[in-house]
Amino acid sequence: MKRMYTFLLAFCCLLLPISALAEDDLMYDLGSRAAEVGMDLLNFEPGADNILGLTNAGHAMVKGKTTEHALTGITDVSRLSNGNNNLFQVNRPNWKPLWFYFFNKDSGMAAYMEPDAAFYSMSTEDRKSLAADKAFSQISLMQVDLDKMLANPNEGNTTFNKKKFSGNEFSLIGISNVWAAGAGYDFMNAAAFHDHLCPGVTSGYMIIKYVEKVMPITNQSAETYIDIGCPNWCKEDAYQMIWDSTPGKNSMYVMALSPEDEAAVKAKYGIRPAGIIVKWNSVSLKGKGIALGFDFDTISQELGVANWTGPAWAPKLVQDIGMMDYVDKPESAIKTLKEFEVDEKLLTELKTAGNNPYKVLGMI
Ligand SMILES: [Zn+2]
Repeated sequence: MKRMYTFLLAFCCLLLPISALAEDDLMYDLGSRAAEVGMDLLNFEPGADNILGLTNAGHAMVKGKTTEHALTGITDVSRLSNGNNNLFQVNRPNWKPLWFYFFNKDSGMAAYMEPDAAFYSMSTEDRKSLAADKAFSQISLMQVDLDKMLANPNEGNTTFNKKKFSGNEFSLIGISNVWAAGAGYDFMNAAAFHDHLCPGVTSGYMIIKYVEKVMPITNQSAETYIDIGCPNWCKEDAYQMIWDSTPGKNSMYVMALSPEDEAAVKAKYGIRPAGIIVKWNSVSLKGKGIALGFDFDTISQELGVANWTGPAWAPKLVQDIGMMDYVDKPESAIKTLKEFEVDEKLLTELKTAGNNPYKVLGMI
């Protein structure tokens, strides 16, 4: 009996600090409440596979502190997790307010919530007696399934015009619909890093698929993709997330292309220039490069958004979701304009400020 008692005491001592810590943790408490409210509004049980959770927790700062423990609260209550491809941290500046969002892909309904600032100053005791939903000053429940929104544009008009998700409407609705359409984890990660889904980031994902086909990495220890991002657009963020090609590590150089030079490339090659990718071998100090073009015009035509007459919030979303059908056939929109060998001298010229890489390559 005595041994049993000693064992229990030791067990409690082990457990207590952890549970006490969890209870005391304001962010953990908040994430748990967000999950509780989401489960209630969207009618799901822990572990449901038709639910997506999105939040800027971990990016947002509250009272000078980071907010990542909210993620553990969400996962512990709802069992949504990043490892299950159903909980993502959407990139936002650290000074933006914290928010939580849940989406049910079967009903198309989504719940968005923002914490009440008063909650941040509450004592543990006060929080204990507070109902889960009282932690939030704003809770919106809206239909976000794109087909349903298009069939009944009034609700979509309200969502966008009244900013039901506090200005996050385009970002959250796009990411939700593409997840429901079966987007892979790598693509979701790129969209979450980019802060939203858009035809631009999808074009980056397609360029990645295209380059990996026509110019695959064959030496994993020596080769990297270097992006000469001229002209740059949302595509660059997909390269950073999926290829780890980043400006900080000298594998991405981003520069604007003047409208005149862009028009000159387009006039010569019949397609919008979409940057230059170099596969560089850091041991042999040699590489291969391709200059690419991306045809947005044909896609817009095919998806019926070129001369859009429907609600103003819709065409970008329609194109976002429609472009999912092109992800497996990137060559339908992407063309190689020029292939070339790269040595150190050429790489330096391509990436140096003041040079126009298309002129360096003799393309214009
Ligand atoms: Zn974008």
